[in-house]
Amino acid sequence: MNEKICEFIDSHKDEMVRDLAELVAIPSVSGEPERGAPFGEEPRRALYKMKELCERMGFVTAVYGEAVLCASYGESPELGILAHLDVVPASAENWDTDPFTLTDKDGVLFGRGAIDDKGPAVAALWALNAVKSLGIPLKKGVRLIFGTDEENGSKDLEIYKEYAKFPPKVFTPDGAFPVINVEKGMLGVRFSGNTGGNYMEFRGGNIPNAVADKAKTIMRKVSADKVRASIPEDSPAKFTVTERGDNVFISCDGTAAHASTPENGVNAVTALLSLMNRVTDEPGLRGIEKLFPFGQTDGTALGLKCADESGALTCVLSTLAIMPSGECEGTVDIRFPTCVDLQTVKDKVCSVLESHRLKCEIVIGNEPHVVPEDSDFVGQLLSVYESVEGEKGRCIAIGGGTYVHNIDGGVAFGAERSDTDYHMHGANEFITTDELCKDAVLYAHAIAEVCK
Ligand SMILES: [Zn+2]
Repeated sequence: MNEKICEFIDSHKDEMVRDLAELVAIPSVSGEPERGAPFGEEPRRALYKMKELCERMGFVTAVYGEAVLCASYGESPELGILAHLDVVPASAENWDTDPFTLTDKDGVLFGRGAIDDKGPAVAALWALNAVKSLGIPLKKGVRLIFGTDEENGSKDLEIYKEYAKFPPKVFTPDGAFPVINVEKGMLGVRFSGNTGGNYMEFRGGNIPNAVADKAKTIMRKVSADKVRASIPEDSPAKFTVTERGDNVFISCDGTAAHASTPENGVNAVTALLSLMNRVTDEPGLRGIEKLFPFGQTDGTALGLKCADESGALTCVLSTLAIMPSGECEGTVDIRFPTCVDLQTVKDKVCSVLESHRLKCEIVIGNEPHVVPEDSDFVGQLLSVYESVEGEKGRCIAIGGGTYVHNIDGGVAFGAERSDTDYHMHGANEFITTDELCKDAVLYAHAIAEVCK
C-alpha cells in the first residue's frame, strides 16, 4: 500500500466532504427534457458543478450532449471510471434530515446520493487528484466519466457513444466491493388476456422491477366470513377484509423487495391471488396462480428453473390489474443466469403464457454480462482490494444490472460494503467519512495499478 496516497486523502478529508455537500445540494432527479438539458435542468446543474470541481484540480474536461462529463488525465486512456450524478427522488417527510443538505452526524454523512452515486464519484475525483498531485508515474491515461441518467435507463451512455469510445478497461463505483463481474440477464414481459370472473377488480403492484407490497381486490358473491376463514394461519402476508353491501373488500400487505432478490420480499399480488382462489372457482384466475404460485421465486411453474455459479433464475409477477370486465394485464420480471440465453428464456415464457391464452409482449431483454474472473483487469482490481483492505478479494455475481451492463469488459468496484445497509434509494441514505476516504484510497491505487 502506498502510504503517501493515504496521507494525501486523509489531509484533504474536509475538502472531499465539502465537494460532496455541493453535489448533494443539487436535487438532480431526472426531469422533463429541456433544450440543452436532455434529463432536465437539475441533472445538468450537477454535471456542471462536477465540471467546476474537476477544473479546480486542473483536469481537462469535456461535456458531451449536455449528458456526460469527461475529465481526463494523461494521453490514450486505458482506464475509465464511470459514476453517475443523477439521483432517485427523496420525500423529505421520511428523512430525519433534509435529503438535499449533506448532514454530518459523528462521521456519518446523510444525504440523497451519498452512496448512490455522488459520494463514490467524489472519491474517484479525489483519487485522480491524489495520483496527479503526488506525481505517481503513469504510462497510460485515465478518464473519469460522469453520467446523468443511470437511474432511468442510462440513455446518457447512448449519447456518450455518439461522441467517444469507452477506454478498454472500465469500472463503475456504483455497485459493491470487492468486484462484481457477472450480472444476470433480464427479461421483462407484459401479458394481457381475460380471466372472466366473479370479482370486480384487482390491483396489485405498480413497479415492474419490484416485489409488490400491496394488492387489493373487490369480490362479490362471497361472504367476508368465508374469506377470513380461508386466510392461511401462517401466512407471511397480512390481509384486511371488510364487507360493504354485496361487496367484500380485501387488501393485502406483503413486503417489497427488488426483483433481483425476490426471496427478501413477500409478494402481495400472488398472496392475494392465492387467497381469492381459495374462496372462488374461476379458471382464468386459477391459471394465473398456477403460473405464479405464492412463495415461488425460481420460475419452476413456467418451466424456467435453472442455476449455475452465477446464481439461480428468479421470476416475479410484479404487477397485476384485472378490470370488472375480466380483462387483465400483468408484468413479469425474470433474471436468468449465464447457463441460458435471452432467446431461450423468451421463447419458453411466451409459449407457456400463450398456452394459457395470455398475450405476451417483451418490454426489456438483456443478455447476461460476464467478465471472466481470471481476466487481467479483474485480477488487478482484486489485488488492489487485498492490499488496501487487508482481506481476500473475491468476485460477486448479481441479479441486478449495474451501470456497466452494456459495456464490454466493464465491472463494478465498490462502493457498497456487503455488511452495511446504506439505505440506497430509501430515506436516510448515507456514507461514512471514513468510507469516502477509503474509497478514494482504493481508487487511487486502482489507477496506479491499471495505468502503471
Ligand atoms: Zn447508482
